[in-house]
Amino acid sequence: ATALDIIGKARAAGRRALTEIEAEHLLAAYGVPVSRAELARTEEEAVGIARQLGYPVVMKIVSPQILHKSDAGGVRYAREGEGLRALLTGVLLPLRELSVGVRDDDGVYDAFREIKASCREYKPDAELLGVLVGEMAPRGGTEVIVGSVNDPTFGPTVMFGLGGIFVEVLKDVTFRVAPFSTSTAQEMLPEIRSHAILAGARGERPRDTGALAEAISRFSHAVYDLRDEVAEADANPVMVYEAGKGLRAVDARIILR
Ligand code: ADP
Ligand code: MG
Repeated sequence: ATALDIIGKARAAGRRALTEIEAEHLLAAYGVPVSRAELARTEEEAVGIARQLGYPVVMKIVSPQILHKSDAGGVRYAREGEGLRALLTGVLLPLRELSVGVRDDDGVYDAFREIKASCREYKPDAELLGVLVGEMAPRGGTEVIVGSVNDPTFGPTVMFGLGGIFVEVLKDVTFRVAPFSTSTAQEMLPEIRSHAILAGARGERPRDTGALAEAISRFSHAVYDLRDEVAEADANPVMVYEAGKGLRAVDARIILR
């Protein structure tokens, strides 16, 4: 489907927020690599999708009224090889933030029910369209954020920064007016204070900055082309792997005008 088909379908359903799956398909149509995911309306559909993708899978609530899914207990995934950390996390975090493994059919059934129950409790009047079942992105990626807003003066403007506290607490971000080329995107990378992390901090290999710059440029073309339709968009996080291994957006949000 083209980007405008996806947007048209959401509008026809009376939604101003694309679902995560729609937003990822839209970005994929512009060549931004995204992780595979499908919508399950029932537990049986969820198991079918999970078997097709192969275990482990990630599962997430799909609701137009729940934009921060983790806050609602709406995200479940396996923490492979992180037994101790998962245990400690389970002890330290409130129950709704617990991540249980979705490693087999039973895990899918449980996660489906738990996600729905948790989200119903979090926001009783939220419309739950179903549950996303998606492939787990490989571990070892550095999480970055690519976002956009429609600036009243400059039009669609793209923001880039590293995920987590780097954007949320330190506001360590850089901006460019869309659209722009891969080489312009490449210039953005050293502009954040935390750029050393992309170059490979603490013995890690350098990240795939070529693939990252290309993805940021492609994102800028998407939001520029769709400027009359899209109010804001973000891919958060994008997992960036070591040089040569590319990247993958594992979450996306697009709000229409
Ligand atoms: P939220 O709506 O809370 O932002 P996300 O979809 O971003 O939900 O999921 C929360 C976190 O779970 C992400 O920041 C990422 O670390 C992890 N995650 C989500 N989807 C995947 C995936 N497909 N593969 C690996 N990790 C994922
Ligand atoms: Mg997210």
